[in-house]
Amino acid sequence: MPQHSRRAFLAAAVAIPTTATVVGLTSGTAQAEYAFPRKLREGTSGSDVKQLQIRVAGYPGYNSVISIDGEFGPKTKAAVKRFQAAYGLAADGVAGPASFKKIYSLQSADNTPIHFTYGELNKCNSSWGGGRVSAATAKSSAFRLMWKLEALRHALGDRPITISSGFRSVSCNNAVGGHSSSRHLYGDAADLTGSHSLCTLAKRARYHGFRNILGPGFDGHGDHVHVASGGSTWSAPNCGV
Ligand SMILES: [Zn+2]
Repeated sequence: MPQHSRRAFLAAAVAIPTTATVVGLTSGTAQAEYAFPRKLREGTSGSDVKQLQIRVAGYPGYNSVISIDGEFGPKTKAAVKRFQAAYGLAADGVAGPASFKKIYSLQSADNTPIHFTYGELNKCNSSWGGGRVSAATAKSSAFRLMWKLEALRHALGDRPITISSGFRSVSCNNAVGGHSSSRHLYGDAADLTGSHSLCTLAKRARYHGFRNILGPGFDGHGDHVHVASGGSTWSAPNCGV
């Protein structure tokens, strides 16, 4: 998207949260776009901290993950600082109005980050069922995964990243010859292609909360990079990973 229309889009996105929240609350049916009720800092806890952790989980530092546990500890603070720095905000590790405004500008009405959708993360079925976990768990894992992907996308200059495969039911996984213990069956995996080289994706993903990265040189991964939150194997020998 050209720079000027991207700005216009972001400006529109910033204006959405208040309206979307009001609509969601009055209708009582549609899920409201999440709005943070208070400033959050180290030592606070609650469901709002959990929502913040989901949105900064792509900023854990190298080879790390932050717990989505509703407890604002040192690792969450460090992640908030990295998020703030990544978007040119004062990096004090306290999530206040400026951080929330940035989060809202990155958040669609269904709370997914603006550059990724549930539809992209599930080309297998519309129910999210049939995998190794419940449909709700698979969809929730995909939601969390998307915020990590948004961080990866931003770190690589906000250029498009394409999801060639996300959640798979057992039958969808069998149909593509996926491994029987594939993280795709859990909803927390995505196969990436797009405008970057595969090695660029594989190497950069190590900073954004992915514990399972498979790319060039690993059997069957010559045309995409597999990233997942769960799992523990990094292997992309042709990229030095
Ligand atoms: Zn994969």
